[in-house]
Amino acid sequence: MTQNLKTTYLTDKKFPFCPGCGHGISINALNKALQELHYEPKDVIVVSDIGCSGLIDPLFATHTIHGLHGRSPALGLGVAIGVAQKQNKKVIAFIGDGGATIGLQHILEAARRNVDMTLIVLNNLLYGMTGGQISGLSTQKFKEIIDFEKDIPPFDLIQLAHASGARYAIRVNAPNKIKDTLKKAIETEGFSIVEAASLCPSYGMKKMNELLEVVDAEEAFEHPRAATKIKDKETVSLIAQTAVIPTKYQSDLKERKGIMIAGSAGGGAQSVARFLAMAGMYAGLDTTMKGEYPITVGTGFSVAEVIFDHQPINYTGLDNPDYFIIVTEDGLNKVKNKLHKDAKIYIDEKLVTDELKSEFPNIIAVPFSKMANRKSTALAAATYVLAKEQILPIDALKEAVSTHRLKDIFVDVINKVIA
Ligand code: SF4
Repeated sequence: MTQNLKTTYLTDKKFPFCPGCGHGISINALNKALQELHYEPKDVIVVSDIGCSGLIDPLFATHTIHGLHGRSPALGLGVAIGVAQKQNKKVIAFIGDGGATIGLQHILEAARRNVDMTLIVLNNLLYGMTGGQISGLSTQKFKEIIDFEKDIPPFDLIQLAHASGARYAIRVNAPNKIKDTLKKAIETEGFSIVEAASLCPSYGMKKMNELLEVVDAEEAFEHPRAATKIKDKETVSLIAQTAVIPTKYQSDLKERKGIMIAGSAGGGAQSVARFLAMAGMYAGLDTTMKGEYPITVGTGFSVAEVIFDHQPINYTGLDNPDYFIIVTEDGLNKVKNKLHKDAKIYIDEKLVTDELKSEFPNIIAVPFSKMANRKSTALAAATYVLAKEQILPIDALKEAVSTHRLKDIFVDVINKVIA
């Protein structure tokens, strides 16, 4: 903290706001507050999101981060946790009243967690960037003037933040009080929030005194709780935990192949897709797998897709599977409209009808359901197709299933199919 009153935290960029916009007042007030608090520009992290208030990033000569609409409190909280162990860092997030409406929960979470940061809410009572629509912070007096939703009260953000545990929550309307209010907020150790009235002459009031007539009364709350202390925690990188699947087998695959497995909930289609994908990797291939099933996971269809290739698979969609493995009626109904004449359609013999046969002469009827019990039919069917089509070595599939707690049963199923 060695800066003096000559230090500026602003770049030389012209403010991008409409003439008379109040946002510039809060930005200049923050610059002055930081000067008086002697922060170094590199110790300040300004976080913003979407809306006119989100145009501030290029204006600050500090660190700046820009996020999604309504998310600057959450983004700021994450940064604040990240820098909590460093000396003299300060996270200051900006948000408009529109963003505060969208991201209200993030503000309450940040207040509840009470990590050291300051949130500045520029309240001009409307969404400026999208044409002046009212927000959840538009006051009733303002809505009476525009004759819209005047019976619905606004959120009292300051009371909500206070009730959620913010150390310092304050609404400030008078422009000449903003700098000192920000100073106090920034000096507060813990979560502080300042809601500053900000004029939007393009869509709201034309003059500051008109705005002051319709904003809520200035209000301040302090909370006696101490700021949350963040402790360093040793964690292992997810990348370091990634299992490496070594190439142990040779694949005779000539070109990219895609398999669609269609069964019912609880029939193992998703597990089989995983086994196939792992087996593909044991065979040195690039593989992808995807699953689809209803929200009610214990009922209805269960469809899985697997792609194998020697090349990287950049598009994981399987628009025209080369092979279908269909083991139940649920599965058939789900993939019926995807069947095509160039595919090999392996299907349980019980599901074959004359109509299906005449439409798809390429179906191959196999007694899959006689090969194993209901839970292992998909595995038996996949083993059968793998062996027939020589897509992958069966030993690679056995190795893949050996990672499962039911490995003995699964290996038994595979052995019986290939016997
Ligand atoms: S639209 Fe309103 S809030 Fe946006 S820059 Fe213009 S005056 Fe400011």
